[in-house]
Amino acid sequence: MNERLDSPTLTIDLAALSANWRLLAAKAGPAQCAAAVKADAYGIGLEPAVGALAKAGCTTFFVAHCSEGVKARTALRAAGHNGRIYILNGGPLSAPMAELYLRFGLQPVLNSVAELQFWRTITATTHNPPAAALHFNTGMNRLGFDKSDEINLDGVPFDLVMSHFVSAECPEDADNQSQIAAFTEIVTRFPGVTASLANSSGIFLPANPHFDMVRPGYALYGGNPLPGSSNPMQPVVQLDVPVLQIRTIEAGARVGYNGQWTAQRRTRLATLSLGYADGFPRIAGHVDTAPDHRAQALIAGVLCPFVGRTSMDLTVLDITAVDPAAIELGSRAQILGRHITIDDLAERSGTIGYQILTSLGARFTRHYTPAPVH
Ligand SMILES: *Cc1c(COP(=O)(O)O)cnc(C)c1O
Repeated sequence: MNERLDSPTLTIDLAALSANWRLLAAKAGPAQCAAAVKADAYGIGLEPAVGALAKAGCTTFFVAHCSEGVKARTALRAAGHNGRIYILNGGPLSAPMAELYLRFGLQPVLNSVAELQFWRTITATTHNPPAAALHFNTGMNRLGFDKSDEINLDGVPFDLVMSHFVSAECPEDADNQSQIAAFTEIVTRFPGVTASLANSSGIFLPANPHFDMVRPGYALYGGNPLPGSSNPMQPVVQLDVPVLQIRTIEAGARVGYNGQWTAQRRTRLATLSLGYADGFPRIAGHVDTAPDHRAQALIAGVLCPFVGRTSMDLTVLDITAVDPAAIELGSRAQILGRHITIDDLAERSGTIGYQILTSLGARFTRHYTPAPVH
């Protein structure tokens, strides 16, 4: 038996990642296209993602935490690139943390007057400190300066003004227009400074609110920035998992913890090496009793529904529709890939593709398909 036979395999297509970045950069041009690589580049791996994106031409990266910024800087250097790295969750809150910002050239996204004041105490005693970004709240009400804040920027170099969309994936939502209007007014206070508002879906809004820089994340990794329309992005992630056991049960038998699914007929089942500990949704097999709306896997060319509750390390597929000769122990079922999108799995599991991606399991065997050499 192949030593990897029992392990789910995650294949990450770095060429598709690069192609997605180029598509978004072309769509947003002449605005520059940055990349959101927080949360381990949405689960696909920060280091390979940053390397591939830098090679494709991306020079600006956004992460959430300082520790992610340190990793991104290390990855960029290893790939032989410079680049700007902004820390979305804010400026340093202590002197030791500030030391990391300075040492790794990390640019704080200042979200409040308190952060601005602390950062000024750092910049006042530092030669050539990294430039900050100023984040304005235009409706999300999580982070950012409010309109009424008194902002004193003396002694604080900054090179970016930004805000963030609340509902860019819903083009008809009135919030989009009001946020674009509010942000347009804010940027007039900062002539000559790079301005950035759009995330993935924001890039596709009819108003083209690209300003000087766009900050896609989800679409880079293959997520659909246009829910309900066909996805312009290439899939980046493919997940294949092995069959561990096959059995037939009679009508009336139930499957999994708490017997959440009952066979209505004689049913062939395949038990897969995949569980909620791998980030697979616990309710994928019973979110809806309608068989055509449960999450699916592709096996031997046939889309088959999951049945019953996902366990920690196992889940069960109804393979009655597949020719028995076509599946054996160790056969692989595709969970995500060309035929099953992250948006589809998410929709059938009561969540969003962002959560599917960022939950991709730590114990998968990972393969990276390299980005093309230019
Ligand atoms: C995560 C994030 C992005 C990227 O958003 P996507 O919807 O994944 O494209 C952009 N800007 C900010 C502030 C973010 O937090």
